[in-house]
Amino acid sequence: MDLTLLESALSALGEPPYRARQVWEWTAHGAAGYDAMTNLPRGLRDELEANVPFSTLAVETERQSRDGTVKTLFRTTDGHPVEAVLMRYRDRRRTLCLSSQSGCPLTCTFCATGQMAFGRNLTASEILDQALHFRRVEPVDHAVFMGMGEPMLNFDEVLAAARRLPDLGITHRRTTISTVGWLPGLKRFVEEVDEPIRLALSVHAANEKLRSRIMPVNDRYPLRDVVEECRRYAATVNRRVYIEYVMLAGVNDAPEHARELAELLGPDDFKVNLIPYNPTGSVYQGSSRERIAVFKAVLDRAHVPATVRLTRGRDIEAACGQLAAARKTKRAASPV
Ligand code: SAH
Repeated sequence: MDLTLLESALSALGEPPYRARQVWEWTAHGAAGYDAMTNLPRGLRDELEANVPFSTLAVETERQSRDGTVKTLFRTTDGHPVEAVLMRYRDRRRTLCLSSQSGCPLTCTFCATGQMAFGRNLTASEILDQALHFRRVEPVDHAVFMGMGEPMLNFDEVLAAARRLPDLGITHRRTTISTVGWLPGLKRFVEEVDEPIRLALSVHAANEKLRSRIMPVNDRYPLRDVVEECRRYAATVNRRVYIEYVMLAGVNDAPEHARELAELLGPDDFKVNLIPYNPTGSVYQGSSRERIAVFKAVLDRAHVPATVRLTRGRDIEAACGQLAAARKTKRAASPV
């Protein structure tokens, strides 16, 4: 729901300011539409129905994986694709993966989103509408900004959305914002954010040369500077910053790479997530399980906490940008 439009529509109707709060409360708790908002006069519900679309996003496709993961491809009102994912775990945890942009201007070589055209920044309302879509299905308790886009390039809208997530049942401690290390946004995050939101850094290679090859953004903001900024955040909030490391066969997965990573991070401020690569038709292949285990053992010996991330939704093209990219290819391939 476009919350700015909601407020202006309510004030145009001469409604008191608390109405916006009432509507938001219903919406955040998973109401199916205005009609369910029984403490609003019927006439007002009809007015809102006619003037303020209940969501800023339209569902284009939705796929459900055998493991319960649901991936949805939405369109903004101006036609941009947006993906979001609901992950269901055995311990009943429900994690949302949210997009901050349609497409992404960065060009990480292994990422499907990085290979498609950049659309635009999403508004806070468009980010929240991804979460609300799933909140209407069932209660949710975790969110990660690991969908399409670079959150630190859309700092204000991402933060405005994150600040409202507790109303949906997702506390700040259970919210994670992931970045490639876009320093201007990262610095603002460290300086301005008082809420205990978790930070994650996509590293993928500890040596600058290799990282620049995998992630061209590294030429702009070298990893050393970025890691120092993250260390500052870990010290300020007294919580470890997560490190994401996608395991690419024969590229960044040798024991030597693990040693470089351990040396860069040290044992105190970070926790490494080793991510099995979800193949996207790029030049890369995922590392074998054995290779990942050896890599992890090196980190273990250096007392750098590390876990191997569970892969979800592999059968539904749930990796970053995959679904939007697949739709595009299919469209391009079909005769007009
Ligand atoms: N731009 C931010 C937010 C997106 S997070 C960032 O890069 O941190 C998306 C995460 O998923 C990143 O850690 C990225 O490296 C990872 N990722 C992207 N494509 C992937 C794939 N095909 N398989 C596994 N992980 C992938």
